[in-house]
Amino acid sequence: MSASSAAGWRAEDLVGGHIVLDFLNTTGGRGKARDGDRLVEYAGLLDWSAAASLLRADEAAVLAMAAENRSEAAAAELRRAIEWREALHSVLVAVQAGAPLPETARETVETVIRQSQSDARLGPGGAGLAWQADPTEPLALVLTRLGLAAPEFLTGPDLSRLRTCERCSWMFVDRGRGRARRWCSMSLCGNRAKAARHYARTRQKG
Ligand SMILES: [Zn+2]
Repeated sequence: MSASSAAGWRAEDLVGGHIVLDFLNTTGGRGKARDGDRLVEYAGLLDWSAAASLLRADEAAVLAMAAENRSEAAAAELRRAIEWREALHSVLVAVQAGAPLPETARETVETVIRQSQSDARLGPGGAGLAWQADPTEPLALVLTRLGLAAPEFLTGPDLSRLRTCERCSWMFVDRGRGRARRWCSMSLCGNRAKAARHYARTRQKG
């Protein structure tokens, strides 16, 4: 993994406020459609993981080597990660709408969380102990860590602060006091929304 490929991810790609939301936001274009997937190969998943500090650089380098030797297993692992990402997105859309959780998506989300927990052990972390991913399939390290991180978000106070950008499909935690945050980021969608309003105003005058 080269530094330049990890540099393809910028700070403004990581505005979700929680690692699982940043993972959801690895796809999505300028509009509401979740097109424009940036995870098109396993190496890209590693790059994102390094940029998001889910993997250390040395871990990403080891996994990149393993993926080169086992390309089919790596492709399968990427598919599994994307399937989980989209299932989690469906679940969170339902949560925001106050709708019942979609069964298949919920099961997919749960299965990865359960598998991650069975592939983890207690070790030093944070202020004391933390669950550390220890998957039998090394290529599953990224998804195992995401599966370990997900319950904190899904069952914690941040879920009630979950918002979707008014302009695109990205999700984020709104931790601000006062006025609600409307956009994933001001530099991306906020400025585009302002420009569109300005354009509409100047057209009205002319
Ligand atoms: Zn946005």
